[in-house]
Amino acid sequence: MPARPVLIAGAGPVGCIAALALARQGVAVHLFEAQPRVNDSPRAATTHAATLEMLAELGLVDEVIRRGLIEPKFRIWDRASREIIAEFDFGVLKNDTRFPYVVQCEQHKLADMAIERLCRLEHARLDFSSRVTALRQLDDRVEVSVEDARGTRQIDGSYLIGADGGRSTIRKALGTAFVGYTHPERFLVLTTTFSFDAEHAQCSRNYFSDPDEWCALFKVTGDDGSGLWRVLFPTRAEEADAQALDADAVEGRLQRFFPKSGPYPVVHRNLYNVHQRVAASFGSGHVYLAGDCAHVNNPLGGLGLNFGIHDAVELSTLLGRVLRGEEPAHVLEQYDRFRRPLNIEYVQQQTIANKKRMEEKDPVIRAKNNEALRQTAADPVAHRAYLLRASLIDSVRKRAAAAA
Ligand SMILES: Cc1cc2nc3c(=O)[nH]c(=O)nc-3n(C[C@H](O)[C@H](O)[C@H](O)COP(=O)(O)OP(=O)(O)OC[C@H]3O[C@@H](n4cnc5c(N)ncnc54)[C@H](O)[C@@H]3O)c2cc1C
Repeated sequence: MPARPVLIAGAGPVGCIAALALARQGVAVHLFEAQPRVNDSPRAATTHAATLEMLAELGLVDEVIRRGLIEPKFRIWDRASREIIAEFDFGVLKNDTRFPYVVQCEQHKLADMAIERLCRLEHARLDFSSRVTALRQLDDRVEVSVEDARGTRQIDGSYLIGADGGRSTIRKALGTAFVGYTHPERFLVLTTTFSFDAEHAQCSRNYFSDPDEWCALFKVTGDDGSGLWRVLFPTRAEEADAQALDADAVEGRLQRFFPKSGPYPVVHRNLYNVHQRVAASFGSGHVYLAGDCAHVNNPLGGLGLNFGIHDAVELSTLLGRVLRGEEPAHVLEQYDRFRRPLNIEYVQQQTIANKKRMEEKDPVIRAKNNEALRQTAADPVAHRAYLLRASLIDSVRKRAAAAA
């Protein structure tokens, strides 16, 4: 085992999972996080079956389930009529996975769980408030520049994983194009302590399609476990950030969606730019990209982080084999060869289709889409096929088949 560690830029959930997956194989890792702590802004929560299987291998799944919320179903509604168009139940996957449901567990909890385990391993090191600013690929290693309160230092590693998010310094330093587009609207995420349990106790994941303003409603456990609801709306393309975040505008949006007496207690208001982009290459030589650094997508379907965790697990497995001398370094080419097209087929295509369906304006196409969803949900074979794709089990199976 070479003495040089694998360097990882970014201690978001993907960087932390990559570090843990490597460290559990005995590989030395050195993780750098630009911020002083893990970012706990409300983003991913939905953890799909295929990912739960991987988290089980890493010894994390019991805690994810304990600190999260098991939800086997999701519903697609027509917002205007308040009718359920289709209900899907991951329970139909009981012969496909040990986890026939999703777990709603906020992404910062997952990162913190991985860090807690890393801290117990002598060959794992994590530096907060340490930003990777540059990299240099050499024949047998990679060197990064890291900036912290004391200045800039150079650190050598055997490999570098860029897990530094959508605006990645690593991807830019490599000169890798981020191919795709940015949606004109932003997504507004509102988190409230108001309980939607009375209406939605039977299903805590709900999508409301609407030609004027679609919406998504989810429950998460929150830091104290008492439960919070997140409501996601698109902004209007011309709406300024300050306008969308204004307290009265937020209250108006929530009341139009679900009128109630008294104001909504809103604990977080966040705006996100939304992109559909895939890096032109997921890496080569001594530097590889994982998670949002390699691909970004809209959150409808809850796929971005799930796929990022799959990246982290696959890359760590390949690196482990190479570092132990079990495989030649060129097996790492598989990472780009397989994961890029899988992201396009399973994450970009599904999330783009989900958004298009939710916002469709043409009444004829809407009616056709709704009928197709009803038929899919009503037919057991189609229902299962739809969920195998939605849960990323299909993408994992396709990757495994390619390796065989
Ligand atoms: C509203 C919303 C809801 C979502 N819901 C879901 C969902 O339910 N399921 C799902 O699968 N996905 C979801 N996503 C997507 C998910 O949040 C992202 O895919 C996920 O955050 C990617 O994790 P990451 O670790 O790759 O990147 P990030 O979480 O962005 O982490 C990158 C880290 O790198 C650090 N960093 C940046 N630059 C440097 C540097 N130069 N040096 C060192 N550190 C650096 C950053 O500070 C950050 O901590 C959602 C996204 C949004 C916006």
